[in-house]
Amino acid sequence: MKVLLIVIDGMRPDSLKGISRAERFISESAGSLAARTVCPPVTLPAHVSLFYGVNPDLHGVNTNEFTPMPVQLDGLFDVLFYADKHCAFMNSWDEFRDLYHPGNIKHHYLTQDYDYDKYYLLDRMVKDETLRYLATRSPDFVFTYFGWTDIVGHTRGWMSSEFIEAVKSTWNLAGEIIDTLDDEWTVIVTADHGGHGRDHHMDIPEDMNIPLFFRGKDFRPGMEIEGLSILDIAPTVAKLLGAVIPEEWEGIVRV
Ligand SMILES: [Zn+2]
Repeated sequence: MKVLLIVIDGMRPDSLKGISRAERFISESAGSLAARTVCPPVTLPAHVSLFYGVNPDLHGVNTNEFTPMPVQLDGLFDVLFYADKHCAFMNSWDEFRDLYHPGNIKHHYLTQDYDYDKYYLLDRMVKDETLRYLATRSPDFVFTYFGWTDIVGHTRGWMSSEFIEAVKSTWNLAGEIIDTLDDEWTVIVTADHGGHGRDHHMDIPEDMNIPLFFRGKDFRPGMEIEGLSILDIAPTVAKLLGAVIPEEWEGIVRV
């Protein structure tokens, strides 16, 4: 078993309606359009929760600026490293540098450009690097992050026509990757938060609800998983790959 995790930043569940690529993936997957992220629904706290398996009150990262965690936690990349798994990390935002401990992954691709108008180009580079790595190496777990959707949400507004277009084009990138994978792979697609107006930081459904879907031979297509949380991703991936799940992790194994 191998796992690809794709995070599309700020992808609200209701933005997927009518995007055929997304709807097809959802129909082939188990999961929910009403999964929940953590509070505050902000990019870095949510990703730290995703990868360290605990709520922000435990890991202490509450803003987009990384602060050293008050507790020593093993994250998903650590437990996969202990299980001798080959992990790769593809992204476009340097604040993610603490989502793993140095030495515990094989490959970290980072492309950056603070000209936000060009951010969609970074997503293409992240897609190309993911394809290159999958074609030339044999990773067990790949994390691929797409950030353009969030930029468009902040500049044009969540659920604006520009935002929907950004979600659609990101699914084309995600689809290019997904289409290369055989049934040895489980593919997980989710978001770190939603958004309303031009922001996201509140404990309201528009910000807190996220899509979360698992496609693979261990998941029944079309099955709705109740009470799904972003915290469930780390233990589920660890289980799929045969790694030990730390007691501190708060999510539920969904496989
Ligand atoms: Zn975000």
